[in-house]
Amino acid sequence: MPELPEVETVARDLQRWVAGATIMDATIHWDRTIRHPQPPERFVAEIAGATIERVGRRAKTVLLSLADGRVMTVALRMTGALIVADADAPADPYARVVFALEDGRELRYRDVRKFGRIGLWPGGGLRSVGAGRGTRSKRVAEGARRYRIGELFSGHGPEPLGRGFTAARFAERLRGRSAKLKSLLLDQSFIAGVGNIYADEALWRARLHPLRTADSLDEHEVRRLHRTVRRVLREGIANRGASFSDYVGANGQPGANAARLSVYRRAEQPCYRCGRPIRRIVVGQRSTHFCPHCQREPVGSGPA
Ligand SMILES: [Zn+2]
Repeated sequence: MPELPEVETVARDLQRWVAGATIMDATIHWDRTIRHPQPPERFVAEIAGATIERVGRRAKTVLLSLADGRVMTVALRMTGALIVADADAPADPYARVVFALEDGRELRYRDVRKFGRIGLWPGGGLRSVGAGRGTRSKRVAEGARRYRIGELFSGHGPEPLGRGFTAARFAERLRGRSAKLKSLLLDQSFIAGVGNIYADEALWRARLHPLRTADSLDEHEVRRLHRTVRRVLREGIANRGASFSDYVGANGQPGANAARLSVYRRAEQPCYRCGRPIRRIVVGQRSTHFCPHCQREPVGSGPA
């Protein structure tokens, strides 16, 4: 499932390739991909003629800001992909929505498992795409019309790569929380965009056991985790994301980050730090990878 680095890669690709392009028409091959407005015919009528001004990301959602102020959201979920294709490229049987661009190219929303959703919303409430701040949502909610874009993300936590996400802010958010680190990192209301891959990677880098509770961390550990969360996400973006099955960038090519991961899906293989085997456990129904030697088990947690 695409996480922050994968979605960011798609957004950056699209910013390069379709910012300034005008959508002439949309063809919907799977109605349920369209979340808003309803019915899908209305979506088609409302998107036709719109010019894409810029492309960004909030949490795990791609945001296409239109020149008239509206925003099109694309939540890729499990297997969604946004691919820019030449007009003469062969048709894609998994394309659920195809946007015909004025210059003859197509922006294709491909989704094998069909969990992804596309919406078109009035703008407002997101000051700058990709630099999330927790307090923003409250400001937005006051006096907001229904369905403004900002409201869609009012339940989301801060962007971990945003300027406002300092170690002090992270410490503040962790304080008094008894949740396990792994579960907390996956909680989108705590921090936006981190999923299973990058949570495991950040915890390994920080040498913190996934079952440690947030309130058990000392100051140094908090700082370490803050640093490693940001680092693994930045490296993921630099490597164009991690492809395990369906994820591809907007060029249709897989990312290179999967081969560079340290623990995720490396159960029984040697830890890059100490050489002992990586273990896999299940935390909150999510498979979790860690090194039992480098990431010491919390006292009193019993056998993991
Ligand atoms: Zn190790």
